[in-house]
Amino acid sequence: MTENEIRDKNELVALLLSQKSNYDIKMIEKAYDLCVKSHSGQKRFTNEDYYIHPFNVAKIIVGMGMDSASIMAALLHDVVEDTDTTIEEIEKMFGKEVALLVDGVTKIGRLSFSTKEQQQAENLRKMLIAMGKDIRVIIIKLADRLHNMRTLDAMPDYKQREKAVETLEVFAPIAHRLGIRPVKEELEDLAIKHLDPIAYSEIEQLLQTRKQQREQILDDVKQKIEEYLRKEMPNVDFAFQGRVKSVHGIYRKMFLQGKDFDEIYDVYAIRIITDTVADCYNVLGIMHDIFQPIPNRFKDYIATPKPNMYQSLHTTVISRDGLTFEIQIRTFDMHHTAEFGIAAHWKYKEGISSNDDKLENRLAWIRQILEAQDTSEDSSELLQTIKVDLSQEDIFAVTPNGDVISLPVGSTVVDFAFMIHSAVGTRMVGAKADGKIVPINHEIKTGEVIEILTTNQAGHGPSRDWMSIAVTNQAKSKIRAWFKKERRPENIEEGKDSFDKELRRIGINVSEEEYEAIVGEVAKRYHFPNNDDFFAAIGYGGILLSKIMPRIRDDYFKKVQASKPIQVVEIPEKQSSTGGVVVEGIDNCLIKLSKCCAPLPGDEIIGFITRGHGVSIHKRDCTNVPKDISKSEEPKRWISAHWNTKKTNKFTSTLQIDSIDRDNLIVDIMNVISNMRISLNSINAKQAKGGNCKIIITISCESVEHLKSIINHLEKISGVFSVERIGQ
Ligand code: MN
Repeated sequence: MTENEIRDKNELVALLLSQKSNYDIKMIEKAYDLCVKSHSGQKRFTNEDYYIHPFNVAKIIVGMGMDSASIMAALLHDVVEDTDTTIEEIEKMFGKEVALLVDGVTKIGRLSFSTKEQQQAENLRKMLIAMGKDIRVIIIKLADRLHNMRTLDAMPDYKQREKAVETLEVFAPIAHRLGIRPVKEELEDLAIKHLDPIAYSEIEQLLQTRKQQREQILDDVKQKIEEYLRKEMPNVDFAFQGRVKSVHGIYRKMFLQGKDFDEIYDVYAIRIITDTVADCYNVLGIMHDIFQPIPNRFKDYIATPKPNMYQSLHTTVISRDGLTFEIQIRTFDMHHTAEFGIAAHWKYKEGISSNDDKLENRLAWIRQILEAQDTSEDSSELLQTIKVDLSQEDIFAVTPNGDVISLPVGSTVVDFAFMIHSAVGTRMVGAKADGKIVPINHEIKTGEVIEILTTNQAGHGPSRDWMSIAVTNQAKSKIRAWFKKERRPENIEEGKDSFDKELRRIGINVSEEEYEAIVGEVAKRYHFPNNDDFFAAIGYGGILLSKIMPRIRDDYFKKVQASKPIQVVEIPEKQSSTGGVVVEGIDNCLIKLSKCCAPLPGDEIIGFITRGHGVSIHKRDCTNVPKDISKSEEPKRWISAHWNTKKTNKFTSTLQIDSIDRDNLIVDIMNVISNMRISLNSINAKQAKGGNCKIIITISCESVEHLKSIINHLEKISGVFSVERIGQ
């Protein structure tokens, strides 16, 4: 039994009343009653009444600041699985919202998770699908698991092990992804307690023995800080916290990374919480006045939040008596987010109705995965997506001093160098991993000790190809900043060069005068004081050609087009070897009338693209034609066709489509052509540099207006960055 557990209704109501939120206490009491009634007579492993478990899952949910519906669902989360009460009854009594939450938690409970590392993504996928788009389901499931872990002692040994492994490999990573730090840490600590009880108690004892000494030191520092802050910022509120390291965190470093307890533990940390962001930076300034900051250890997670929304300022300082400690500075809001993650921003939170943009961003990846699940037929591709997302922060490299640097998977020594400091990155000449020289594009693996070799030689700097070797935005932006500052003449030259190339590529060949006019206009449009600054910006990557060229092209051709008539070529009407059938989107192809229904002119008809025998034409109501094409097996092979009744003057035009080379691009282009009832005379696709491709199509169209609208539609295809008319 754990202390402070809720054991009856009065205790639950008292807990609710002690919170600031405005709960629907009457309905929660009703859920409580149904919980007791449904589970009556059932016992847990601990031999106490079963309903003690849901009470305390509800307590955890209250502690996370969740809403009334979540609390009701927590009370009822095992009712459908373990008792005669049905989901319909719950819906009748508590409404659809609570019923959906209970249903989601029940479904997750029925899943079997794999604890093999490579299948974590599959676990998450299962859980995300079972939750039915409501993240509260997973939060309730985490609370359920947390309470089960707290009371795990009563279970048989093999069950303890099984649950602990599953907790460590399935549930704690999910809590981490959702940014719910206390739940993640408690789950991990409880798992270690059952998986490696000896190490666990060793760490606990070490923590205990140092506690007093540590608290004394921290108290002294706090007192000093407080004195200064009261003096410098008398009207501002502060809260202090000494940071407690989780057992699991220490365990990982001691037993998996082989570090000494003192090495890990003697990093003291103080947290200062205040009201506003401005206060945070003021406090930081004061801290750097009182204490000596250690270079390269300042991190501004306020300006650049971590992926799980975490925000704070971190700095490491040395006191006069030589004590090194970390200071974290954040606002109360940031603190709440750091502690409760996604739950802190839950928009159905009682009494708060906000459209939290950050939450929306945070949820975006979940939504993307769910949406991908609807459209993607290839589940391995889906798993890949989730894996990439899951393992984003997964690698940890070590500096020769023993600092652990966390980097996204795939990071190279370039990223590592810039993560340490820009000056280390820009002066890098080489790198060692575990003592051996490695190439600069060496991909770092967790646990590697990375040493960056630098030079003080003047004039040395990063090379431009590092931009493509770096993975992190941090490194990329620092490299870019360096080039911007240090390499102006080269930037101008390089920028002008690539601009000119791009102009030629899109077919703008102009006189020097016209060229000057174009550049001048563009530079002005993007607020550059002169042409050189504009070219320099292209050179260091501050402005992307792919962003500015389409408009330049449009403006130019608009001008040119106004003075040049469009070339119109009459093409002879095709002979009726095709039986006078026009198949939309396809020209010059073998067309045959099917024998099964023998369509005649005037019949409503449809075409089917056969494998290697052209297009066969059926009557729309032929028994071989599916009634609902979109639901048929191969909907894309059915194409519209009609009898050629009127003669129209058409002209051919050749278009060049430049695009990112991707799957189904041609299909999408064909769809546009077919939907617009254009006939295609030829299509020719080839790969181009940099993962792009170039597609040349010749089409027949009716008018210039028609052509413009065709170009317009083609430009909207995803991946296409330019569509232009070229000579025949
Ligand atoms: Mn349960």
